[in-house]
Amino acid sequence: MQFISTRNKNIKLSFSEAITKGISAEGGLFVPESFPMITKKEMNDMLEMPYDQRANLVLSKYMTDFSLDEISQCTSKAYSRFEEDPAPLVKMDEGLYLLELFHGPTLAFKDIALTLFPQVLSIARKKLGIKEEILILVATSGDTGKAALEGFRDVDGIKIIVFYPSEGVAYMQKLQMSTQKGNNLYVAAVKGNFDNCQTGVKEIFGNIEIEKEFKDLGYSFSSANSINLGRLLPQVVYYFSAYLDLVSSNEIKMGDKINFTIPTGNFGNILAGYYAKQMGLPINKLICASNSNNVLTDFFKNGKYDANRKFYKTMSPSMDILISSNLERLLFELFNRDDNKVASLMSSLKSTGVFEIGEDEIRKLNEVFYADMADEDNTKETINVFYDDYGYPLDTHTAVGVYAADNYIVDNEDYLPMVILSTASPYKFTESVLSAIGEKVNKDPFINANTLMSVSAMDIPEAISELRDAKVRFNDVFEIKDMIEAIRKFIEIKE
Ligand SMILES: *Cc1c(COP(=O)(O)O)cnc(C)c1O
Repeated sequence: MQFISTRNKNIKLSFSEAITKGISAEGGLFVPESFPMITKKEMNDMLEMPYDQRANLVLSKYMTDFSLDEISQCTSKAYSRFEEDPAPLVKMDEGLYLLELFHGPTLAFKDIALTLFPQVLSIARKKLGIKEEILILVATSGDTGKAALEGFRDVDGIKIIVFYPSEGVAYMQKLQMSTQKGNNLYVAAVKGNFDNCQTGVKEIFGNIEIEKEFKDLGYSFSSANSINLGRLLPQVVYYFSAYLDLVSSNEIKMGDKINFTIPTGNFGNILAGYYAKQMGLPINKLICASNSNNVLTDFFKNGKYDANRKFYKTMSPSMDILISSNLERLLFELFNRDDNKVASLMSSLKSTGVFEIGEDEIRKLNEVFYADMADEDNTKETINVFYDDYGYPLDTHTAVGVYAADNYIVDNEDYLPMVILSTASPYKFTESVLSAIGEKVNKDPFINANTLMSVSAMDIPEAISELRDAKVRFNDVFEIKDMIEAIRKFIEIKE
């Protein structure tokens, strides 16, 4: 299996090359040259397998330059970091299921890819004979940074630095990062917002002199954001796993169609569902759920992607995004893999913030996708009603999904089994959840966690309770212009 760029099909790379590069030189994203199929026999074989073995089978279709042994080494290391099954399916009602993707070390679905990706990258680096150490730079608004730190912690041949906006993350998120353990990592707060952090990192990536300076010290830069194939492909697995769990618990028969709803930001999670469908998984519809930053909802309705709009800070911050990078991979399929067309749409997006598709494409999209949004009131109300109905505390992101799923079912009278992806633990956003269900919110976040536990059947995850006594290791704050100094400082300590 080779991988090609969405903006230039002539570029062909192995899996290891594609994940080491991250993004293609002309700006395109790497995609598989074709979609491998999962056969009926393989589906049946997977019924009895635990999650990591299902992952081995699905990923082996793509990671063809890895031996089966290498793949299973990676998955068993990664998924031993989860409490139990990395993706348990919970039945809430007849035909209604939550796929809980938040049982990893940092309590968000990004753990499923970010526990695996570092193991895979470390092996890819050896295969390619890369001598320099890899230095991962991450800009984060909260969830990605912590998940990447945990994933890369003490991984051979790799170091990681995370930049976060000093005043722009939630209390728990900041505490999660500043108390991070591990010997190959560093966390820097930046006096600015998330966009400043992101731009700062991009400028370092694009600077040839800085690249040379660090190459001479034995380092090459890389990134771990969600446009990297190494983050996308592990997410395909849990769509298969959810389906297989429905079959083995006799909720459906093999071959029956089901629907999925995905709380969406950068379009990575839902795109993995589309890839699963392309590989033969019987998915009827993928429902794309957005918060008030509803640029995707509009796009699926009228074919116009328009990022020139007000940016809302919502209670589901990991979905506060106006440029959904992974949509480019869907456009590539939508236009029958026309790389020139994709390049021209993306160039229009870059220069004007807008691109448009035609009637035919809109129709084609709507055969597979349905899109809806929940504003702040809808989100709160959904948490409240769901709690009343089931005693289950939804996190704010998942609540956006539940709202969109309900609307889809009512509008389309489609009563196929519905699996809603639950992307974060409610304990990451305790204050919003408590206030939505009408409980008192305290100033002390740990008291709030206790309150949430006392009113629900969900225990406080260790990843939260251990923060109470964790030692703060990182409290350096840098000016935006000094981000490069943060990297130099870290490397000096390490040398
Ligand atoms: C990142 C994130 C999302 C959005 O996922 P995308 O792959 O960016 O669409 C949704 N919910 C939570 C909790 C997240 O951390």
